[in-house]
Amino acid sequence: MTAFAETIGNAQDLAEKSLQGEELSREEALAVLNWPDDDVLSLLQAAFRVRQTYFGKTVKLNFLLNVQSGICPEDCGYCSQSAISDAPVDKYKLMGAEAIMEAAERAIANKATRLCMVASMRGPSDKDVGSVAEAVRQVKSQYPQLELCACLGLLKDGQAETLEAAGVDAYNHNLNTSERHYGEICSTHGFTDRLDTVRKVREAGISSCSGALFGMGETHDDVLEVAYRLRELQVESIPINFLVPIKGTPMVARKDLTPVQCLKILCLFRLLNPRSTLRIAGGRELHLRALQPLGLYAANSLFVGDYLTTEGQAAHLDIEMIRDMGFEIIGDAPVDNAPESLADRVHFTSKKSH
Ligand code: SF4
Repeated sequence: MTAFAETIGNAQDLAEKSLQGEELSREEALAVLNWPDDDVLSLLQAAFRVRQTYFGKTVKLNFLLNVQSGICPEDCGYCSQSAISDAPVDKYKLMGAEAIMEAAERAIANKATRLCMVASMRGPSDKDVGSVAEAVRQVKSQYPQLELCACLGLLKDGQAETLEAAGVDAYNHNLNTSERHYGEICSTHGFTDRLDTVRKVREAGISSCSGALFGMGETHDDVLEVAYRLRELQVESIPINFLVPIKGTPMVARKDLTPVQCLKILCLFRLLNPRSTLRIAGGRELHLRALQPLGLYAANSLFVGDYLTTEGQAAHLDIEMIRDMGFEIIGDAPVDNAPESLADRVHFTSKKSH
């Protein structure tokens, strides 16, 4: 037994603890982040045991819609839509019901079971909430099976209740990082403002979606703090984002993550939040790269299609990846996974002389 295993035990002990509903100690959680790279498969196997217990081999696909783009007054350093960003993103005000209905159709065509409507704003006016509520009523009457998630920033009293009454299933508001680190990524609102909205959502009876963003200069302690906070809040859905450094934002030069470190973060969140839907969100393609499929041994959800202001992997490649792993997309009909003709996928190199 290595010195490391002697101190922490093996990964299966952590899985056992997670399955018993016990919280990993700080020391164990830190060990997950420091797990030897060469042994990351044992950690993934442990995370998969927990994932499989609660979610089998299913994968839930969500589809993102930027319902208001590029005009946020806040100064979050990672965000291409902030007041301090020069990134060349689309700028438009809150879209109406018709455009949201079209997106709902695209979401369903891409096998998504949840449409996430995200607005770049500090928080909505009551008029904004009314407009989203109306769109939600219309989409729900046409596609009652499609889950609708709103992400409209900080909520005022009563707004979550209005959204709930209209049929909103979930509300996303990410904690993003630890309370200590929050001041380094944003100055126009604080960690406690975010916490307050997550609590309002829960009190209104809406399913809470709240996650984090890594690669912004946080320490391991910051990662642990946000992971424990989300466990404490018992959020149903946890998106894990990895920073996409965008030109025109203050965080453009950051490159803190490796694919293996991203896997360890996903394993930590799975072991600490065994029953929560864990979604690999923004930055999946950029940071996990060829290791993307391995991420699904810890996570049970992905975004399909594009992100808010950056392109995602083509939907058919995500779907193929999931099926090739022998996983099953929620709501998808069983398919014969063999391509019609493998020969059609073979392309010859150029015949030019060497
Ligand atoms: S509040 Fe949201 S949209 Fe606004 S700058 Fe921050 S992350 Fe971007």
